[in-house]
Amino acid sequence: MKYKAFLIKYAEIGVKGKNRYLFEDALVKQINHRLKGIDGKFLVTKESGRIYAAAEEEFDYDEAVEALSCVFGIAGICPLVQLEDMDYEALKAGAVKYIGEAYPDRNFSFKVVARRADKQYPVSSDQINRDVGEAILNAYPETRVDVHNPDVLLRVEVRHQINLFSETIPGLGGMPTGTAGKAMLLLSGGIDSPVAGFLTAKRGVTLEAVYFHAPPYTSERAKKKVIDLAGQVAAYAGPIRLHIVNFTDIQLYIYDECPHDELTIIMRRYMMRIAECIAAETGCLALITGESIGQVASQTLQSLAVTNEVCKLPVIRPLIAFDKQDIVDWSLKIGTYETSVLPYEDCCTIFVAKHPVTKPVLRRIENSEAKLAEKIEALVEAAVAGREIVRC
Ligand code: ATP
Ligand code: MG
Repeated sequence: MKYKAFLIKYAEIGVKGKNRYLFEDALVKQINHRLKGIDGKFLVTKESGRIYAAAEEEFDYDEAVEALSCVFGIAGICPLVQLEDMDYEALKAGAVKYIGEAYPDRNFSFKVVARRADKQYPVSSDQINRDVGEAILNAYPETRVDVHNPDVLLRVEVRHQINLFSETIPGLGGMPTGTAGKAMLLLSGGIDSPVAGFLTAKRGVTLEAVYFHAPPYTSERAKKKVIDLAGQVAAYAGPIRLHIVNFTDIQLYIYDECPHDELTIIMRRYMMRIAECIAAETGCLALITGESIGQVASQTLQSLAVTNEVCKLPVIRPLIAFDKQDIVDWSLKIGTYETSVLPYEDCCTIFVAKHPVTKPVLRRIENSEAKLAEKIEALVEAAVAGREIVRC
């Protein structure tokens, strides 16, 4: 079957009222961007509530579908056969040929649904349904019509050319990138935070990311892993600027001054503070983490509350109620899992106590942090100022 174009179906942006064109334009932009990355040239157009991507030269079908499958905002991808010849006999012959090629095994029921965008076309939609149905039955007597529950639903669209399609490949859903502001993802090398970033980006949010490392306690390989993960999320979310913050001096200072069972929680509070600081500098409207209730000591509700206490920006936690297996399934689906499970050290695990507090009390944590008064501000400032920025 020679498909030359795709009809792109979108879900939610269809109901955005007056701002709808903004969302459609953003989606067209993202589709163009993705299709530019593959061989072949496409013309992407918006026509009365639909988006079409038509190939202007030879292209690899699988590659094109793969590219479109990574675009947020697409609910379904319909490969189209287009007939330039508007003649009615040619339409019927085209439909018969389409069915013959798309469904070599003829034992199926079908229904034809025609739609005329071009109301000047001399045959009504109902008549097209009946005539095309009859032509298919004549050509393939093993098939049968079922108008209620057909195996194959053949759509015939009459526009300035005739579009035939019957398959819908599911898209990612969500909202087009760039339609919902920017947020700062706290990206570690684990399984969770890349998925959290992906799910937030899926709602149209543009991402920046921050990674805290602790050289020489954490290696270059661990850093490379996070850069790779950011790149993998960027394949969906668009380019991500990754801010790499050297957290070593802060961690050592906390380690020297504070009770060891509170290290994790205090460290996490400093991560949030620094992330918020960089978020303010870069125009981010929220933070994003991969936290999930009860997963580890620092993710009890008590710990989350004490961590959250230092943030003024909203903290988006898309995985908060996910089971681990669901998170793993997502990471497999989006392709980050294999990188996430590479066994490189994480800056938090190196300094963690054997028995961290699971129900921290805010006042006590604040008292411990008071012991850091002498140097912490300067250390935080130096960490923010000395960060490395990598474009992924
Ligand atoms: P992940 O799988 O994302 O690493 P986790 O289950 O290991 O999560 P924690 O280590 O408690 O959980 O981290 C909780 C969240 O804090 C992470 O999902 C991430 O958003 C953020 N985070 C943890 N460590 C770092 C780090 N080194 N740099 C940036 N963010 C981090
Ligand atoms: Mg982690």
